[in-house]
Amino acid sequence: MEGKKLVNLHLRFVLLLVLYAVVSGGVFADDSGSTLVIHAGTLLAVPGQAPVSEQSIVLKGNRIVSVVDGFIDPSTVSRAARLIDLSSQFVLPGLMDTHVHLTGELSPDSRNEALYMTTSMDALRGAFYAKKTLTAGFTTVRDLGAEPEAIFALRDAIEKGYVQGPRILAAGSSIAATGGHGDADGYKAELLKLWTPDTICDGPYDCRRATRHAIKYGADWIKITATGGVLSNTSTGTDQQMTDDELGEIMATAHSLGVKVAAHAHGTDGINAALRAGVDSIDHGTFLDRESIRLFKKSGAYLVPTLLPGAKIPSKMEGNPFFTKAIKAKATAAAAASLNNVRLAHKAGVKIAFGTDSAVTPHGLNGEEFALMVKAGMSEMSAIYAATVAAADLLGLTADLGTIEAGKLADIIAVDDNPLEDIRQLEQITTVIKDGQLIKVALKRR
Ligand SMILES: [Zn+2]
Repeated sequence: MEGKKLVNLHLRFVLLLVLYAVVSGGVFADDSGSTLVIHAGTLLAVPGQAPVSEQSIVLKGNRIVSVVDGFIDPSTVSRAARLIDLSSQFVLPGLMDTHVHLTGELSPDSRNEALYMTTSMDALRGAFYAKKTLTAGFTTVRDLGAEPEAIFALRDAIEKGYVQGPRILAAGSSIAATGGHGDADGYKAELLKLWTPDTICDGPYDCRRATRHAIKYGADWIKITATGGVLSNTSTGTDQQMTDDELGEIMATAHSLGVKVAAHAHGTDGINAALRAGVDSIDHGTFLDRESIRLFKKSGAYLVPTLLPGAKIPSKMEGNPFFTKAIKAKATAAAAASLNNVRLAHKAGVKIAFGTDSAVTPHGLNGEEFALMVKAGMSEMSAIYAATVAAADLLGLTADLGTIEAGKLADIIAVDDNPLEDIRQLEQITTVIKDGQLIKVALKRR
């Protein structure tokens, strides 16, 4: 009896150790061939299709091997297979945010940061925000604007497993017009000269150079600022800032090198000019109109609405020195328009991909965008589809991500209750698995 107790205690200790190692990500990091079996209480394997209850997902290394009906015994798959018990959870594919800025976050001191933030600090701070984003259930992001060396290093460090974060597709610095959104603004002349990015361009030939420059130094995506921006400290509005010939040359150059283009665009004329030029996504799309909707549908471009800043920023502007008079006026107008325009676009069948512009709002709260999409008239399923199947399509990752199906990368998350009934479940992710690696796990309470 005593001996049995001791053995039991010993077993428990070993189990605890294994559990600890799993939670801290230690076991699977070096065990690329390991097999995991997940029991999913309810599984939304393919957003857009109905969820199914009591499914088992078999993972080997970083890939999904199969999805089978019922709760299977892990030992029938492999003697060494381990079970992740999510039998009381709602399981779905890892989420994707197609508009973030991982290396920064808006604060009252944002304008002074250029004086003291080094590239290394940018990258390290980015690692901190990357982890927050990943534990919020976002296993893939598109970063649309950061100090190039910092964000490319962060992307590569995550890829190599040096730090934990979502897989990143990064643009580096924006292709933008002199004095436009994306250029340095609001400082004295000597500093503006020093801080002007290499990707600022004027005229089609110069913009061809800037596009090639961005790709040469590591950009996965080209980000352009087709119109003025809400948060740049200028009162030049939010209308078109890049000319049609510049837009056309950027698209031709990027596309000929196999790189897609995302356009920051608020004003109607800039949205429509970028769509006519063949852009792959319009980000923000604040003042889109009927003609924009027609152009979206004709070209197949995605709208990435980024509703979070409009919902959160206006109430935070008073007393915050970052919000100058010029910025306040633009932020108020943009917030008023965006929700209804997303409603119109969605109703008309424009393709929508999930994006938050996190950095403007705090990293890790990305999931709050879902409730705003639903408020704008999207169904819970359409909002989830936008952050999985649609986002994977926009990012060119459909072969590997977006659904839980055999052969795909094992990016899997879970929540306590059905997000198709309560979308705010996606603000509290209990379990995150990325590339077959357990980042965070819901321990089943018995
Ligand atoms: Zn942005």
